[in-house]
Amino acid sequence: MLKRKYVNFFVISLLVALISLNFVIDIPWFIYLIILFLWLLITLFGSFFIRWNYHLTSLSSNKNIQENNVSLTFDDGPNAEFTPQILDLLEKHNAKATFFLIGKYAEKHPTIVQDILKKGHSIGNHTYSHTNDFGFFGTNKVISELNTTKGIVEKITGFKMLLYRPAFGVTNPSIQEAVANLKVNSIGWSVRSLDTTSRSEDAILKRITAKVSKGDIILLHDTSKKTIVVLERLLLFLQANNLKSVPAEQLLNIKAYE
Ligand SMILES: [Zn+2]
Repeated sequence: MLKRKYVNFFVISLLVALISLNFVIDIPWFIYLIILFLWLLITLFGSFFIRWNYHLTSLSSNKNIQENNVSLTFDDGPNAEFTPQILDLLEKHNAKATFFLIGKYAEKHPTIVQDILKKGHSIGNHTYSHTNDFGFFGTNKVISELNTTKGIVEKITGFKMLLYRPAFGVTNPSIQEAVANLKVNSIGWSVRSLDTTSRSEDAILKRITAKVSKGDIILLHDTSKKTIVVLERLLLFLQANNLKSVPAEQLLNIKAYE
């Protein structure tokens, strides 16, 4: 897969070579423009698709796993209305999951955070603010967001989280530096449900069931009735296909807390 440092090195080398060559033969200006445009395109795709591992390596699945395990993950909670319903559904089907918490909501709903752990699930960091412009934050601001949420959750649960899921799945050099600095694991996904879009429950379920196999990490959100409906049917599908959901750290064989 493409990596930022190799792409940047290649583009800079190419531009230097062309500028040098320009002394001998005339290079049309649009060639430079095309190269810069392609570079911008690759950088944008690399930033938006976490599975490219363009800026940093995110753990998105474990396809070498022996057991028939997958991992359901829920982002953007805790949510007073929907997280408890999801916890009940998971318990009913004996499924375990990982919840990536937004700090400002964890602060508001500490008992739900405790309930998640009591029921045998794990938790990870999903920033403090989750604002739309998170992708433009500098390294220090990313570090401060992650540390704030980590501190809030530690106060509530006693656990120091090591799993981190980038907001919107967007990564960039600041996030890469923050992850390296804080020594957290960036967790991606291999099956994206798109449960926050206007798609129907049927379409979302079909999208997941068409793809899912052992070792997959499935991205869902504990923020809507739609996800509850999908989850109820998805859990039946997983059971029927002999797939068991376990927390992400178990699937990936890593530590969730310090
Ligand atoms: Zn999110």
